[in-house]
Amino acid sequence: MITRLSAAEISQQLKSKQVSAVEVTTEFLNRIESQDSLYGAFLAVDREKALAEAEAAQASIDAGTAGPLTGVPIAVKDNISTLGIETTCASKILKGYIPPYDATVVRQLKEAGAVILGKTNLDEFAMGSSTETSAYKLSHNPWDLTRTPGGSSGGSAAAVAAELAPLALGSDTGGSIRLPASFCGLVGFKPTYGRSSRYGLVAFASSLDQIGPLAKTVEDAALLASVTSGHCDLDATSIKAPAISTEKLKSGTLKGLKLAFPKEMFGEGTDPEVRKATEAALDALRKEGATVDEISIPTIPLGVTTYYIIAPAEASSNLGRFDGVRYGFRSEGQGHIDVVAKSRALGFGHEVKSRIMIGTYALSAGYYDAFYIKAQQVRAQMTQQFLDAFADYDFVVSPTAPVTAFQLGELSQDPMAMKLLDYCTIPANMGGMPAISVPIGFANNLPVGIHLMAGPMRDEELLAASFAVESLFQVEPKRPNIA
Ligand code: GLN
Repeated sequence: MITRLSAAEISQQLKSKQVSAVEVTTEFLNRIESQDSLYGAFLAVDREKALAEAEAAQASIDAGTAGPLTGVPIAVKDNISTLGIETTCASKILKGYIPPYDATVVRQLKEAGAVILGKTNLDEFAMGSSTETSAYKLSHNPWDLTRTPGGSSGGSAAAVAAELAPLALGSDTGGSIRLPASFCGLVGFKPTYGRSSRYGLVAFASSLDQIGPLAKTVEDAALLASVTSGHCDLDATSIKAPAISTEKLKSGTLKGLKLAFPKEMFGEGTDPEVRKATEAALDALRKEGATVDEISIPTIPLGVTTYYIIAPAEASSNLGRFDGVRYGFRSEGQGHIDVVAKSRALGFGHEVKSRIMIGTYALSAGYYDAFYIKAQQVRAQMTQQFLDAFADYDFVVSPTAPVTAFQLGELSQDPMAMKLLDYCTIPANMGGMPAISVPIGFANNLPVGIHLMAGPMRDEELLAASFAVESLFQVEPKRPNIA
C-alpha cells in the first residue's frame, strides 16, 4: 500500500516508474476522503489543484528532471499561506481569507515538484499544545482516537501518523512541531532560526517562529527541510546560508558523541514512565559508545514563564493587523472603531484573546521593564548557558515532552499544565537553536520521543546524529493500528 510508505520510498517508486504521480496523489486523496472524519487532520483539501500538480510532476519525472520530492504529496499547516487555497490559522477571523501569494516554503515545494494535498488543523494561530483551540474541529491521535495528537501542529501530525500524507509542514514557536511528533510517534524537526523562510507564515511570535517538517523518518524530515530552507530576501531574519544539506545524513555515528543531559530537564511534572523510557534510551546510547554527562542549566525552569511574556507580547503586536477590514471575517458595526472591536471580539477565540491581553499588559508603560525587559534578560542568559554547553558537547538531550498524549479535554481546565508541556522544547526557540524529536519507543502504551538540540547552524550534524539514533531504536510497532 502506497500510503504506508515513507516519502523517500514513494520517490523511489516514482522514479522507477512502479507507480505514477497521479496514482500516488489519488491514493492519498481517497484515503483522506474516506478516513479523515476519524482524525480531523485537514481543514481544506484541493483535489483538483493537487491532481494538476501531480500531472506536472509526472511530466518532470518522465523528462528525467525529478528531484527527491517530485510527485510526493505534502500536507501544509493552515498558518502557512497558499496561493488560492483558504488559509485560516484555524481562526474564525480568517474565515474566507484566500492568500494572493504562496509562502516561500510553499513556492519551494512547488518548484521541487511536490504536491500540496491540503491544509491541516492547528490550535488557533498556533496558540496551544493540543489542537483543541482550533475554531473548527478537534484533531485525534491515530494511536488512540480519544487522545490529542498534541499541538499546535496537531493536524499535520495526525495526517502523517494516520497515513493521510507521507509528509507535512508544521510551525514551531515553543514546541509545536516537536511535541505532536513525540505524541504521534513521528520525527519533528525545528531548524535553526532563520534557515527556513518565515515569509508567508502567519506570524505568531516572530522571534521564535520557525517552519519545519513532520515525518515518519529522519531521512524524510531531512529531505523536506532541505527543500524548504535556504536564504530568502523576503524574510529580514533569513540567514545568508545555503539550504540544509542531506549529503552527510547517513554518515552519522553514535560512537564518540558527546551528549549533555541537563538535570533540570526532568521537571516536576515528568511522568515516571517517560522518565524511565528516557533513561533507558540514554543507557542504550551509552552502550553504542556515546557519552552522556549530566550537567546543570539553571535557567531551564524559567523557560515557560519567560516564553509566556515574550510570545504573547509579540503576538499582541502581530495580531493587530486583524481588524475585520483587510482580511477574512468582518462584523457589522457603527463606524470604524466599532467594526474593528466587534470583528475582533467575535473573530478571535478565548485563548488568542487572553494572549493578546497578557502581551499588551506586558508591553504597557510601567510593566514593560518589570516583565518584557526582564524576560528578554532571562532569554539572553538562557541562550548563553546553552551556548556554553555546546562548547563542550555535541548535543543536549532530554525528553521531548514530560508526558505522553493525554485525553482530549483532560487539560482544558488546567492552562498551567497545558503550558508546562513545552518545558523541554522552549529553550531551542529562545536561542534559535535547531532541535528534533525522534521516536524511541512507548510509555503508557503511547509513543514517546527523545529530544536532541544542537548549537545554531548545526542542523546537518543534528540530522545525521538523529539518523543514527533512529536506527538504534527500531521502534515497534512502527504504525498505529489503523484501517
Ligand atoms: N504550546 C505553545 C503555545 O501555546 C507553543 C505553540 C507553538 O509552538 N506554536 O504557545
